[in-house]
Formats: sequence, C-alpha cells, structure tokens
Amino acid sequence: MTDTAFSSLALPTALLDTLQQLGYEKMTPIQAQSLPRSMAGEDLIAKAKTGSGKTAAFGIGLLLRLKPAHFAVQALVLCPTRELSTQVATELRRLARFQQNTKIITLCGGQPIGPQIGSLEHGAHIVVGTPGRIADHLRKGTLKLDKVKTLVLDEADRMLDMGFIEAIEGIIDHTPGNRQTLLFSATYPKQIRQLSSRFQNNPVEVSVESVHSPQQITQLCYPTSEADKDDLLVRLLSHFRPASCVLFCNTKQQCETISAMLRDQGFSAGAMHGDMMQKERDQMLIQFANGSCSILAATDVAARGLDINDLPAVINYDLPRNSETYVHRIGRTGRAGKEGLALSLYTDYESRKIRAIEEYQQQPLPLGEMGDLPSQVTPMHASMVTLCISGGRKDKVRPGDILGALTGEAGIAGDLVGKINILDHVAFVAIKRDTANQALGRLINGKIKGRKFKVRPMEAGLPLGDERPPRRR
Ligand code: AMP
Repeated sequence: MTDTAFSSLALPTALLDTLQQLGYEKMTPIQAQSLPRSMAGEDLIAKAKTGSGKTAAFGIGLLLRLKPAHFAVQALVLCPTRELSTQVATELRRLARFQQNTKIITLCGGQPIGPQIGSLEHGAHIVVGTPGRIADHLRKGTLKLDKVKTLVLDEADRMLDMGFIEAIEGIIDHTPGNRQTLLFSATYPKQIRQLSSRFQNNPVEVSVESVHSPQQITQLCYPTSEADKDDLLVRLLSHFRPASCVLFCNTKQQCETISAMLRDQGFSAGAMHGDMMQKERDQMLIQFANGSCSILAATDVAARGLDINDLPAVINYDLPRNSETYVHRIGRTGRAGKEGLALSLYTDYESRKIRAIEEYQQQPLPLGEMGDLPSQVTPMHASMVTLCISGGRKDKVRPGDILGALTGEAGIAGDLVGKINILDHVAFVAIKRDTANQALGRLINGKIKGRKFKVRPMEAGLPLGDERPPRRR
C-alpha cells in the first residue's frame, strides 16, 4: 500500500464513495503508478501480478472513459483463463457501482455459446473474456469491437504461453487504431516486447517489484530442533488454525512425509511438488482451491504454479536458501489490504538465515510466543469435502447438471455446494463437510443428466487413484 489516497486523483465523488465503501483508502503501488497515466489516455505496459490491485489499476481509467448511454462495447479485457475473467469481471462490477447501468459480460470458452450470444444482443459496455471464445464471436459476427476505446491484455505473458497469440492479433485487428492499449504482465519476455511494439503507442512502463507491503503480514519465527519440528508445527496449526495455508518445504520428499504426518494427526493436508504427475497436481490444486485440503506442503518451484489469491497464511517449515525467496514466499499472504500471517520454524543452525532475512527486508522478524501455543494437538479438518464424479466435459456434464442433481427435489441447499470443476472425463464438486454423506448418497442413488455415474469422496490431500493408506512416520 502507498500513502497516496485515491482522493489525490481527480475522480468523481461517486467513485470516491464507492472506493470508500469497498474499503480502498490508499492506492496500491501499481495503482499509484498506473492510474494517473491510464486516466490521461496513455498506453501502459505494467509489470504486476494478481493480488497487486491491478484490476482497479486498469479498471478505474476504463470505467471513467465509458459512456453508459452509448450501447456498444467500449472496453475489452482479454484474460488467459475463465477463472481470471470471472475475477476481473467481479472486481469491475464492484468498481462500476458508482455509475448506473454499466453492463459487463464475460465471454469464455468451456461454456455454452448460446447464452453469450443472447447477452451480447442485449448490449454490453465491457467484455471480459478469453481470446479463443472472443475470436469465435468475431467470426460468427455476434460481437463488434469497432467502438472499443480501451483494450486491456491481462496476464499477457500467460496468454502467450497458452498459445493465444494468433487469436489476440486477430482480435486487435477488429478494434479501432486510436484505442488505448494497456498491457499487464508478470514477466517481460521478448514476445511481450514484440507484442507491445506492434500494438501500443509509446507505452509508459510501470513496474512494482514488491507486491506486498510488509506491514500487512504478521511475521513470526519459532526456534526449534530437527527432532521437535513436527511437534511444533502441529501446535502452531492447532493455535493459529488457518483456513488454508501453504507449508513451504525445501525438498519433495519432505512435502510427502510432512503432509502424511499431518493427515495422520487429523489435518487436511496434501503435497505438491515436481515429481507428481500433472494429473495429480491438478487434482491437488482443485482440492486446495475448493477448501477441501487446507494445508499444502509445497516446494518453491511447485508453488509458482499456484494461482490462489488471499492466502491467509504461509508457513516456512524450512527456511529458504536465500532471503529473496523468503520475501517471495510470504508475499503470497497479506495481499492488497488483507491481513496475512507468515510463520517460520528455524533450528540453531539456521539462525544466521534469520539475521540475513532481517537485514534483507530491513525489518525485524519477531520471535513468536511459545507460551501461547497449546500442548495438545487439536486436529482440524478442512471445511469442505470433494466428491469425484466419473463423468466430465466429454460426457457433456456441466456444473449446472451437478448442482441440479444435488439441490433439486428436496435435495441439499445450494449454499452447501462449493466449487465445481469439470475436467475431460471427471468432475469434482466440493460439499460442506457435514453434508458430504447426504450429497454422496444423492449422487450415487440419483442421476446426473439422466445418467448414472460413479461417485466417491476423495481423501483430502491424496490424488484420485491413490488408494494407499497415508504413509506413517
Ligand atoms: P487484483 O490484483 O486486482 O486481483 O486485486 C487483489 C485484491 O485487492 C482484490 O480483492 C481487490 O478487491 C483488492 N484491492 C484492490 N485495490 C485495493 C486498494 N487500493 N485497497 C484495498 N484493497 C484493494
């Protein structure tokens, strides 16, 4: 967070009120650097990650240029995934409360195109979506972009990684040459520079290295010995009880043994590292993101692929090899205005690393209060349970079908059903723990889309097909 208040910008009072209602008082660094530029109509190339407040950094300028009385797509935001598109659209809708009648729609692949065409016919001011599907609409003639004033390429590096370059070029060709183009990317590879030089007009570069301000993260460290580490860890978990956390380990083997140890002690824990098959990693991520696995023991490399906002806590089971990695790790919590907790265990041998970290971040790393920790372990199961269904996209199973099978005709209440993920041949649905058995019974005995599928609960932290009992210490 910077010390600059939003009120230092020439923003309409209604927008300032909205920002206040949302609890945004000060600008995040990327907002302070981008907003004056984007409001002046300049092109931007901004290095910022999700969690830095980047949506408001491009969203406020884009909303201010919009004429709600004019029914045409005036802003287009391209995102790599449906998940990010939904996140961006949600944030834009919250910001857009200050002016009435702003219509924002998402157009993403993996969803039926018919309702999207219907929404477009009703008119939209802002379109957020993935390049493939937007290109489909342009081909069909169901989307017009000739009135676009602002084009945003969000997570541009990921879109290029995913092979969207041709689709993006095709889309840009449908927009007017005098548009404003804002490019957001976490990294600056050569292809990003090429993309920028082709489609941007004298872009201003803005970059914020650190995405968090250390004050929002409570950092505590706890001295221990190798022999007592596991015991201290379960006491810390019993005391702080984070709804979800990443537990950083330095080796793959440790991720496995520690997550197994935690499962034995009654915690919903799983491992994530480079030796796992892609399928196992995907399943682990689904369980972590849907709240059925609350502790993820991960190596630094594996954690890079984690796309989770708002992590309440991170724990360093092992201190990282260098201080820079420590700052990256703890930066996964306490993002943009939220409280974060970063706990670190260290042995005598590692105390010099603590000093190096303090020096690097120019801030002390306070000792945690051992006396506050309980002597007894209080197990903590995740709030959700994942049920796995043996049918997926290729079987034409959609989220609505699963939700319908669970909630229809005296079924369970919709708010007990969490995230639904549909893969090619399987689907996963998260259910509140207390209702999981009832939901399982309904799905086993009932039908989804008129068909019978196999359904079974997944043990938190174990990938599907792994029927082995958790390993003992
Ligand atoms: P983003 O990087 O756009 O995904 O934003 C991350 C989170 O920070 C979102 O939940 C926003 O609602 C929140 N946020 C954005 N800007 C601010 C701000 N200036 N103050 C507090 N929270 C913010």
